[in-house]
Amino acid sequence: MHGEKDELKEDDKKSNIQMKRPPATEVLYYDDPIITSFKAKVLNIINDKYVILDKTAFYPRGGGQEPDLGLLEDSEVINVFKQGDVIIHELKETPKFHELEDVAGKVNLIRRNQLMQHHTGTHIINAAARKVIGKHINQAGAFKAEEKARIDITHYEALTKEQEQKIEEEANRIVESSIKVKKDLMPRNVAEKEYGMGIYQGGAVPGKNLRIINIIGTDVECCGGTHANNTSEVGKIKILRSTKISDSIVRIEFVAGEAAKKEEERYSAILSQMSKMLNVASNEVFSASKDLFEKWKLGRKAIKKKQKVFLKDLKLKIPDKDEFNDEDTVKKVAAIFKTQPEHIVKTAERFIKEIEEYKSKL
Ligand SMILES: [Zn+2]
Repeated sequence: MHGEKDELKEDDKKSNIQMKRPPATEVLYYDDPIITSFKAKVLNIINDKYVILDKTAFYPRGGGQEPDLGLLEDSEVINVFKQGDVIIHELKETPKFHELEDVAGKVNLIRRNQLMQHHTGTHIINAAARKVIGKHINQAGAFKAEEKARIDITHYEALTKEQEQKIEEEANRIVESSIKVKKDLMPRNVAEKEYGMGIYQGGAVPGKNLRIINIIGTDVECCGGTHANNTSEVGKIKILRSTKISDSIVRIEFVAGEAAKKEEERYSAILSQMSKMLNVASNEVFSASKDLFEKWKLGRKAIKKKQKVFLKDLKLKIPDKDEFNDEDTVKKVAAIFKTQPEHIVKTAERFIKEIEEYKSKL
């Protein structure tokens, strides 16, 4: 959080306002994690775009969680950050309201909810990884944005596909078990005594009192983020990929809730494009793609190595049906085509065109 201070120092210099140090901002985002509207008094407006309120429901960037966005009256809030214990709202344009006036704040709930799903999801994946891989797993870092999230865990080798899958399954089991997420402010010594030093998953935390996020019987962490009240609110968790990023750290990227739904829809959209392109049913795409790839290889070999191939050998056969889900189908086709899922439609298009060219040269 060091960058934040410098940001405002620069602005203080430009500002003519002799501002007293504003009091600590009262935070509303802990009381109710899905609070959307609130009233507050404007204490300072610095450089026509940095607004300090007496209280706020806007979560400021921190603990690897991206900030809330939304509106103060009709002014767009494009960034929220903390300087000491003062929360600063950055506006897109000069507001119509003035200092000492009351304003209505409105937090973008869709974004807030997604960030919450990703943050509680991070704690869940941490717990799931510890259960599946071993007690040596700790969080080495995390980042939660609206589109996706990631958690870096302490582990000395890359995860196998099977381990990845098991972690995802365990994470979804925790979600489906509808476990209460308790949030308590506790004196440090009490928290350490009760839960051990494992609570410091996000690194050292200053202060006498710690905010403890307790997914009952599953995971206890000291954390300042916004969290669901129950694991069921996180929705489906999908691991996108895992990568070994150093000798002792593995990064797991994932999506949860709405973002996971979007991810599934993305695969369904690719599959439906493929089915149109190949002119077969969705459950025939895998078989048709495999056939297309084999015929393309055969045609290419025939032209390159001047091998004898009959036109009928390049004719696509009637595809078989399968029972794979949309995502698996797309991933399997991508593996055959040796490309990324988002490129399989274009690749299939190219194969079809090239097979026609091979045919004309035979
Ligand atoms: Zn956290």
